[in-house]
Amino acid sequence: MADTPQIFGSMVFSDSVMKERLPRETYQALRRTMQTGKKLDPALANVVANAMKDWAVEKGATHFTHWFQPMTGITAEKHDSFISPTAEGNVIMEFSGKELVKGEPDASSFPSGGLRATFEARGYTAWDPTSYAFIKDGTLCIPTVFYSYGGEALDKKTPLLRSMEVFSKQAMRILRLFGTEAGRVNTTVGCEQEYFLIDRALYEQRKDLVFCGRTLFGARPPKGQELEDHYFGAIKPRVKEFMRDLDEELWKLGISAKTEHNEVAPAQHELAPIFTTTNIAADHNQLTMEMMKKVARRHGMACLLHEKPFAGVNGSGKHNNWSICTDTGLNLLEPGDSPGENAQFLLFLCAVIKAVDEYQDLLRVSVAGAGNDHRLGASEAPPAIVSMFLGDELTGVLDSIEQGSSCDPKTKEELRVGVHVLPRFPRDATDRNRTSPFAFTGNKFEFRMLGSTHSISGPNTVLNTIVAEALCQFADILEGAGDFPSELHNLIRDTYRQHKRIVFNGNNYSDEWAAEAKRRGLLNLKTTVDALPYLVTEKNIALFQKHHIFSGAEMHSRYEILLENYCKTLNIEALAMLDMVKKDIIPAVCAYSKDLCEGAAAKKALDADLDCDLEWELVSELSSLGSGLYKKARKLESDLLGVKSRGDLKAQADCYKDVVFCDMRELRAAADELELLIGGRYWPFPTYGKLLFGI
Ligand code: ADP
Ligand code: MG
Repeated sequence: MADTPQIFGSMVFSDSVMKERLPRETYQALRRTMQTGKKLDPALANVVANAMKDWAVEKGATHFTHWFQPMTGITAEKHDSFISPTAEGNVIMEFSGKELVKGEPDASSFPSGGLRATFEARGYTAWDPTSYAFIKDGTLCIPTVFYSYGGEALDKKTPLLRSMEVFSKQAMRILRLFGTEAGRVNTTVGCEQEYFLIDRALYEQRKDLVFCGRTLFGARPPKGQELEDHYFGAIKPRVKEFMRDLDEELWKLGISAKTEHNEVAPAQHELAPIFTTTNIAADHNQLTMEMMKKVARRHGMACLLHEKPFAGVNGSGKHNNWSICTDTGLNLLEPGDSPGENAQFLLFLCAVIKAVDEYQDLLRVSVAGAGNDHRLGASEAPPAIVSMFLGDELTGVLDSIEQGSSCDPKTKEELRVGVHVLPRFPRDATDRNRTSPFAFTGNKFEFRMLGSTHSISGPNTVLNTIVAEALCQFADILEGAGDFPSELHNLIRDTYRQHKRIVFNGNNYSDEWAAEAKRRGLLNLKTTVDALPYLVTEKNIALFQKHHIFSGAEMHSRYEILLENYCKTLNIEALAMLDMVKKDIIPAVCAYSKDLCEGAAAKKALDADLDCDLEWELVSELSSLGSGLYKKARKLESDLLGVKSRGDLKAQADCYKDVVFCDMRELRAAADELELLIGGRYWPFPTYGKLLFGI
């Protein structure tokens, strides 16, 4: 492998490249734009574009694209070449400031949830200078936002950037009160990405994997994950090669892929990068997912990012490690050593507690999706109930503040914020509870409900906004405070008192917790269809409108898109199942029966007294299971036809969840039973055993 520091970021138009290639004033103006998010002067844009083009052409690029993140959840790009005709009939390589700053992809087919009416179907892309341009597959990719003619956001990036602005503004108000020096406050994210790797040839033999990204059928193999021998086990050579290649591709793009290991399920792995500013982390995670698929293909494998590719073994999630950092490098979720640092930390902590309690519904909505419904609450991932883990030590401190007691048994003195030094929280003590959906892990929060396919933009837009709102309310109170230390103390005490119901340090997988959470009045939104309507409640629309993250129209459009996406996903899965049953499974059942019958007839012809019990029993079992399968397929088919007549989108989604989904489960159970009965060479698809242990 090439020298790592040499290749790291070699395909990124990074700060050092800019500094080297741009005139001093242009570079400084661009830096200001990047830090503040303000518009770039068009004259400067031409200079930047030209330098970008020269750099890209030297690296072998021939095309450029505005790279954006539409509501489909994956990234989109439309390539244009740099070539421009000259009067002499030749071509030159050209790239203007105008082309850099604004694009007009013919984007009428991207989901807009009704935001782009027929009179203006176009969407526009605009350069996001806070994220570096990069080269991928010979194309200069310019990270952009995507919006409609009317200025409404049509992508996942715009609201994320808006939420970061709001966060910084509100956090700065708090820092000023404490006299903490900073120019800007960012949220930071490092997300751990889980995925499966399977043999590509086997993958291609499964329509369910090709069409839906998950298996719709598959009997349990003799061995699953029960021995727990895969977790952190030795990485197989073929996978190791894949990881090495993937690392190199990611490093070139400036993505600091850091740790890779096996996960709990066989064939399951994880990659974690070093954390960075949230919007860059979001770009990097999209690129990571894309590269995982591409590099897997190169190695004769398929990378499955679906939340639940296989029944019976763990699914895949994404842990969103989130923290708060000033531009001077101070982590505001680090408890610190002095009473002052402690007080500031406790206030930020309480903002998160208040936010997570008040907006549990939004956090739940932010991780909703048909794929994740298979995981949340299935004793392998956090439940659908949002709660927070703080650890016993930190909870003890907050309890002491609330009760006006001492947290040190030696002194009887009441714990005062800003006066006393908090005990140290051992880092490992804060990471014991792996069942919590939202855990404090020493100097950051780990939001563990995300599905592996999700863009991290949505969950982080919600997190940034809800915590910014809490900080805003705190600042409103404290800015008018007569006696700051004492009002601060009371604010922390009262906030914790009001919101401590969201704190739960026990086992989130237990049934007792579900009952206890109900008693505490916490939401338990089990499915996507249960959760989505909370996106458009008055309270939540008011929140996003207040901070100019989403307009009411934008939120309604997102609600529609998400609901529609759920319906479409289930429809595709149901159709794929029917196809597999009719085209593949039934013919296999019939062929096996026929061979058994012919075999029995041949035996009888040889000697009428020969025992044919085996054939007889197998054939009768195949017949009855086969008829059952067929009836279930017919029921699914007719229920599927009935969905459209259910009325509006929400009613249709309910029908997919309550009727179609149950039909699918029954159909699968019947097929899986047949799989166990049928001769190996008759079964039309690679089995779970082969898929999971085939590498
Ligand atoms: P573990 O001990 O569970 O392996 P790590 O502390 O190594 O966890 O972090 C896991 C992820 O959290 C990594 O992607 C890491 O970069 C990220 N992370 C660490 N500190 C922060 C932070 N301050 N903000 C955001 N993410 C962070
Ligand atoms: Mg983790």
